[in-house]
Amino acid sequence: MSLFSGMEKFGIKNVDDKKLYEKKEAPPEKKEEVVKKAPEEPEENFLFPKKYTCPVCSSQITSLTVKSAKLRLIGSDMDLRPKYQQMDPTKYDIVLCPRCGYANTPKNFPMVMQAHKKLIIDNISKTFKYDDPHSTAYSYDEAITRYKIALSNAMVKNSKDSEKAYICLKMAWVIRGKSESLDSSMPNYKDALEECKVDEMGALKLAKDGFITARATEEFPLAGMDEPTVDYLISALCVELDDPKTAAKLLSDIIVSKTANNRVKDRARDLMAKVKKMLEEEGEE
Ligand SMILES: [Zn+2]
Repeated sequence: MSLFSGMEKFGIKNVDDKKLYEKKEAPPEKKEEVVKKAPEEPEENFLFPKKYTCPVCSSQITSLTVKSAKLRLIGSDMDLRPKYQQMDPTKYDIVLCPRCGYANTPKNFPMVMQAHKKLIIDNISKTFKYDDPHSTAYSYDEAITRYKIALSNAMVKNSKDSEKAYICLKMAWVIRGKSESLDSSMPNYKDALEECKVDEMGALKLAKDGFITARATEEFPLAGMDEPTVDYLISALCVELDDPKTAAKLLSDIIVSKTANNRVKDRARDLMAKVKKMLEEEGEE
C-alpha cells in the first residue's frame, strides 16, 4: 500500500512514496503510547484564516492558522513531536491553494522559483481537482491530505531531501495524532488503529531515509535543525523503526560531541538507555 494511494482523486498522478528518494524497504512495526486529550474548548477558537496570494496561480486564498500564543506545551514525543494541551497544531502546518494544487509549509509557501512554478503547473495544476470543504477546523483526514499534496509538490519540483523528509516527519506526527484521537468504542477501532500505524510507519521510514541522505549531501542546518539535533532525530526515528544499532552509533557521537548543547545531550542519554535495552532484548532472542 502506498502513502500516496487515493491521490488520483485530486488529479495528482505519478507520485509514489517508493520513488520519493528512489529507494525501497518495508516498514516494520512500532509500539506507541496513547496520549489522553482534553478537548475543552472548540478547536476553532485557536484558529484564524490567514490570507495568502498563491505564487503559482495568483489566487487569493486563506489557510487556517493556529494562534500559537494561546497554546500550552505539555511535552514532546521521542521524535521531537511537540504536544499541546488544547489541540494539535501540526494539522495546520500546510498551506494549500485549492485552485491550482500548490501546497507547502507556511514559511516556504510564498517562495516558488520560476522553473518550479512550471513543474507544478504541468504536473499538478493541469489535472488538479479539489473540493474545498471550507472547514472551520481541519479534520485529521483533511490535514493528512494536505500533507500528501505538499509532498507531491515537493516531489514534482525536486525539493531538497531535507524538505521532503521534514514534510514526511510532520505527516507522521499528524497520522499519530489521528490514531490518538480515534474513539476506542467505535466498531472498527482496531482496524482503523492498525491502518494509522502502517501509514505512520511508512511516513517515518520516508522521513528517516530522507534525513540520512540529506545529512550526507546537504549543508546544515537541515530544515532549521543543527547537526546534533538531526542526528538525535534520526536516532529516534531508527528506534521507532526498530533499528537500535544505527541509533546507538549516532547517539554515542552526540553524547561525546563538543558542539551539541546539553538539552540534545540529555535527550540522547535518555534515548541511549532505551536503545541499550532494545539491544539486550535482541541479544537474548
Ligand atoms: Zn494557486
